[in-house]
Amino acid sequence: MANATQFLRGVPASPGVCFGKAFLLDSEEITIPRRHITAEQIPQEIARFEEALIHTRQEILEIQHRIARELDVEHAEIFNAHLLVLEDRALIEEVITKLKSEQLTVECVFFDVLKRYIRAFSRVEDEYLRERTSDVEDVGKRILRQLLGQRRRSLADLHEPVVIVAYDLSPSDTATMHRDHVMGFATDIGGRTSHTAIMAKSLEIPAVVGLEDVTQRVKSDDWLIIDGTTGVVIVNPDEATRKTYDELRTRLQAIDQTLLQLKDLPAQTPDGRRIQLAANIELPDEVPSVLAHGGEGIGLYRTEFFYLNRQDLPTEDEQFEAYRRVAQAVAPHPVVIRTLDLGGDKFTSSLKMPHEMNPFLGWRAVRFCLARPDIFKIQLRAILRASTYGAVKMMYPLISGVEEVRQANQLLEEAKDELRTHGIPYNAEMEVGAMIEVPSAALTCDIIAREVRFFSIGTNDLIQYALAVDRVNEKIAYLYEPAHPAVLRLVKTVVDAARAANIWVGMCGEMAGEPAMALLLLGLGLDEFSTSPVNIPKIKQVVRSVAMPQAQALAQQALALRTAKEVEDFAAAQLRRLVKELP
Ligand code: PEP
Ligand code: MG
Repeated sequence: MANATQFLRGVPASPGVCFGKAFLLDSEEITIPRRHITAEQIPQEIARFEEALIHTRQEILEIQHRIARELDVEHAEIFNAHLLVLEDRALIEEVITKLKSEQLTVECVFFDVLKRYIRAFSRVEDEYLRERTSDVEDVGKRILRQLLGQRRRSLADLHEPVVIVAYDLSPSDTATMHRDHVMGFATDIGGRTSHTAIMAKSLEIPAVVGLEDVTQRVKSDDWLIIDGTTGVVIVNPDEATRKTYDELRTRLQAIDQTLLQLKDLPAQTPDGRRIQLAANIELPDEVPSVLAHGGEGIGLYRTEFFYLNRQDLPTEDEQFEAYRRVAQAVAPHPVVIRTLDLGGDKFTSSLKMPHEMNPFLGWRAVRFCLARPDIFKIQLRAILRASTYGAVKMMYPLISGVEEVRQANQLLEEAKDELRTHGIPYNAEMEVGAMIEVPSAALTCDIIAREVRFFSIGTNDLIQYALAVDRVNEKIAYLYEPAHPAVLRLVKTVVDAARAANIWVGMCGEMAGEPAMALLLLGLGLDEFSTSPVNIPKIKQVVRSVAMPQAQALAQQALALRTAKEVEDFAAAQLRRLVKELP
């Protein structure tokens, strides 16, 4: 191999090893070469600029017509602001004047003017004008792509198996990509629980995220090894390294095969405590994988994927069909449908949500749903209708106090009334639970427990809020510590409150799928573990290896430790001692 081998280290996001050619997904950043022109070339550059404006206008009009046809005129009108940018005389004249005085290519000049405009817009006091910044930016990029003759490469265009290298992958990238052709992911940003990591795990694709500059270091068609288990990416590996990783891949596959033999055995400790071992899914097509890995139902069905990557909102019937399909496919095991958790790192183009400084602390999840009962009740009715087709349960995300549970339950009652009025059946006894993922909910869960039938601890968010560490920021990924004593104490508080109130408690955050942590969580008294299907056999192996008194003693010892590092080392050592056949 001609190019030099490089070793890059990032955040391990989805386990496994793969080897393949890089496919570099262009980031939205556009780089413009700085090139001078002669005075004779000026008219030609002006003509190129005018042509780019005309083509961009056509492009926007086409989008606008399609949206008006497929959605509604109101959404299409959003693009009027984009068209206005194209007609901005001041901007056009400034470009032409500068082109003449500076004698640089029109893309260079336009880029400079655009940057100045964006800076000016983002500083103005008037909120309406400030919000136009993104319109100017969006149109500006379209014009630049026209000038440069570029089109953003799309994951829907893949024709052969590749390893995706990107700044990040948006939910719409992962939803539209050609899945059979994606062997692995490597991204600049993101942490263990970012959307890309979760998606990679559910697709069983090895992934490393948070590499910071992998898009700068890798070129399309470089050869890459992705080791998603340890978080290493090797660019253009030499023969010896390739061979080592081939052997590792074979060994990991053999371990997976051995663990898969546990598929039909119960998730039960040697002294007879039965654990509910369920899976997290984003899409109904993932159910076969859950069953193939021995999952006993779905502990977290993330429904927001329904709302992403489309221009309209999903209807009640459409949602009902999907929920019913999942419920029937996993029956007699349960499915816990989580109500809409938009915001944070998941946005949809069909709802114009405001741009926020701190989206994870903002208008997301149940907060959004309570403010938009029109949208929320469509989902509640769809879930209720599906509840007669299997063991359907439902939970609310991002509960921060008991009032939100009460308000959501009030809307649920209204949805039930509406169905009753129309003679549509539903299960009046459907279990309703709260996700515990905000510290204020964890600390008041004795109060919340009286209003719900179960808790599901969402550690992905609970950790970020308890430790004040943005879950998708690679710069502080080292501070994102599931084993932090504060996290263990919060989990213990929630489990103890559930026990006292006689309701069940599960965990659906990524922490539930880490074997060493699972050992401690078992001892803390968790009733249910819900994780990516790939992790189910490993967690089953943990549960089947350790008797409860032993697990409880380990949890007690862990609670007495002082740092995340001490807890991690302790749990890893106990795992090696007590549980066989784990990678
Ligand atoms: C969590 O926060 O732990 C969780 C499971 O929800 P999400 O990752 O979808 O925020
Ligand atoms: Mg969450």
